[in-house]
Amino acid sequence: MPAKSAVLGSDKFSFFVELECSGCRVTYSSDQIHTFCPECQSPLLARYDLRSVREHLDRDEIMVRPRGMWRWHELLPVKDPQHVVFLGEGDTALLRLPNLEEELGTSNLYVKDESSNPTGSFKARGLAAAVSKAKELGIKKVIIPTAGNAGGAMAAYAARAGIQALIYMPKDTPRANIEESRMAGAEVVLVDGLISDAAGMVGVKASAEGWFDLSTFKEPYRTEGKKVMGYELAEHFNWELPDVIIYPTGGGTGLVGMWKAFAELEELGWLKNTKRPRMVAVQAEGCAPVVKAFASGAAFCDFWMNASTIASGLRVPKSFADALILEDLRESHGTAVAVSDDDILKAQKELGRAEGVFSAPEGAATLVAYKKLLAQKWIIPGERVVLFNTGSGLKYLD
Ligand SMILES: *Cc1c(COP(=O)(O)O)cnc(C)c1O
Ligand SMILES: [Zn+2]
Repeated sequence: MPAKSAVLGSDKFSFFVELECSGCRVTYSSDQIHTFCPECQSPLLARYDLRSVREHLDRDEIMVRPRGMWRWHELLPVKDPQHVVFLGEGDTALLRLPNLEEELGTSNLYVKDESSNPTGSFKARGLAAAVSKAKELGIKKVIIPTAGNAGGAMAAYAARAGIQALIYMPKDTPRANIEESRMAGAEVVLVDGLISDAAGMVGVKASAEGWFDLSTFKEPYRTEGKKVMGYELAEHFNWELPDVIIYPTGGGTGLVGMWKAFAELEELGWLKNTKRPRMVAVQAEGCAPVVKAFASGAAFCDFWMNASTIASGLRVPKSFADALILEDLRESHGTAVAVSDDDILKAQKELGRAEGVFSAPEGAATLVAYKKLLAQKWIIPGERVVLFNTGSGLKYLD
């Protein structure tokens, strides 16, 4: 152990203290099973004793720990290390994109390449946190509606945790997602409809048979896993944050999670300054509820009818955390952009040919948005911009 921790050290694995409703601010115990706020139906967010973390933990100590998401365990919800279910998630590469920079006449363009996570997408981070916490709370069976990657990730972590897994996915979900879920021993139900239809069936099944629902934001911990992407960015840029983050937004766990992470880092006094990134939500033209609500100044999203896009992770007609997503975009002075499937496919090829990154369509969508915002001068060449490639293109092959 480094000398510093001997001085500052605390035996506490986590400084998680309570859950707080993002809508009405009512608080809930961190030791009982909770879903979302029964008072106002808003998502719950985990709160930590950041004052104690500040006293007991130095950011430099985290930097020398073994790689992976759990080196931030003081700021994650699992209280006993034996409940951590780890498959290697986190500490993905942050790659500069020099060839695209040259082509586009810009610089300081990066991609956070989440494709190297277990199960090939950043869903691993969220489900690692949620399944670990479910294990700690004694939950024996978990259920999820999914556009694909969340199901595959849940199946893998549930298998390792010894928890039973049941997954509802649209029948046109990429085949890799179906296979990886079954391979991990999960039961898969293929639904003739969208993720919102799958979610309806999950709700019924969960309450009838006592399955714990791991739907996006209907439990508090997936966003805790995803927030670590924000910590990793801060660390990478030497405790300053980038100017702009472009995030392909479905349920919005990563966007909300990273914005929360930045607030936590600031409260910990770990950031060099108070400058926060402008957050950009990217959606597909065939399913853009956040873009529409952002443009109209609305506080919530309307349900998007007949959602359709090749970027299956973005085929979310209405996020359960729509209010939070819109709030965070506005607070960050960010924006929301819709892109076409044609442009996504072109950008996927560009990322591959120029930089050797075989991105998920959702990841390629961020490059399309970057180019649009550069053309609109919303982004100035040279601003430090991070695109999120949220998964591997390999998962979308038939
Ligand atoms: C789920 C998913 C998204 C959307 O992520 P949210 O956090 O739900 O907004 C983006 N890309 C991929 C590859 C996904 O699987
Ligand atoms: Zn509430």
